[in-house]
Amino acid sequence: MSHSDNCIFCKIAAGAIPSRKVYEDDELFAFHDINPWAPVHFLIIPKEHIPSMAQVGPEHAALMGRMMVLAPKLAMEQGCNPYPAGGYRIVTNTGAEGGQEVHHLHFHVIGGPRPWLKG
Ligand code: AMP
Ligand code: ZN
Repeated sequence: MSHSDNCIFCKIAAGAIPSRKVYEDDELFAFHDINPWAPVHFLIIPKEHIPSMAQVGPEHAALMGRMMVLAPKLAMEQGCNPYPAGGYRIVTNTGAEGGQEVHHLHFHVIGGPRPWLKG
């Protein structure tokens, strides 16, 4: 599985940098955001180093599907309230103009009772 030596999220997925883990399987890792915007704010990443959505291709279709299917399951486990009164936001910042700071693909899952700090 490819990784990038200087990538903080590769190190988190490998356990080399500590995180508050939410979920792990062979391909995916999820952990609480260190600077949460809302009562629930965690990140889902592939263990494989994919820099952003801009590098996603047809070979990643199954992986991307698994990330999307995992998001609602973990959102409920982490305390988001049920749809439709509750819910959550799934965000993937891409590139500088998209507001991406960490260049390892991640889905933010943000939710819980309002108010939130942002968004
Ligand atoms: P983005 O701006 O979409 O690239 O988001 C990067 C996110 O990673 C931000 O919300 C940061 O708070 C979060 N983050 C950065 N370093 C860590 C870390 N060591 N552990 C958990 N979350 C982090
Ligand atoms: Zn990485």
